[in-house]
Amino acid sequence: MIGTPRMRLSEKTKAHRADELADKLSTAGLRVTQARLALAHLLFGQGDRHVTADALREEALAAGLKISQATVYNTLNQFHAAGLLRQVQVDQARSYFDTNIDAHHHFYVEEEARLIDIAAQEVDVARLPDSPKGYDVDRVEVIIRLDKSPKA
Ligand SMILES: [Zn+2]
Repeated sequence: MIGTPRMRLSEKTKAHRADELADKLSTAGLRVTQARLALAHLLFGQGDRHVTADALREEALAAGLKISQATVYNTLNQFHAAGLLRQVQVDQARSYFDTNIDAHHHFYVEEEARLIDIAAQEVDVARLPDSPKGYDVDRVEVIIRLDKSPKA
């Protein structure tokens, strides 16, 4: 698990931000730990983004945080379960966590391993099959896979 992450939250703005993040975590029903707070700072501190667990671990290391890959995975899954993140599975090997939890769709640029948000109202699903008996549609998430245009 985690030792003592070195967090530099001494500046007033960062301290204020840390309070907001602590509120966000406790409002979601999560106990506020240093690891969760540090990862929340990386995830939510710079606007909406899509991040893989591996990329977040890299960022944590670059920020001088001593957080194991297992803690990063667990924390992401806990944030997801608490409704703070959405998960976007682009294929079997690659899963992104999305800080934008509003309904929306995605472009996926395979060569750049990059997701781009599409506003919900930009996609119109004209027809859906009837759901199997006993099931209701929870949501429809569209991933439009892009290749780089040869002209670009
Ligand atoms: Zn998104």
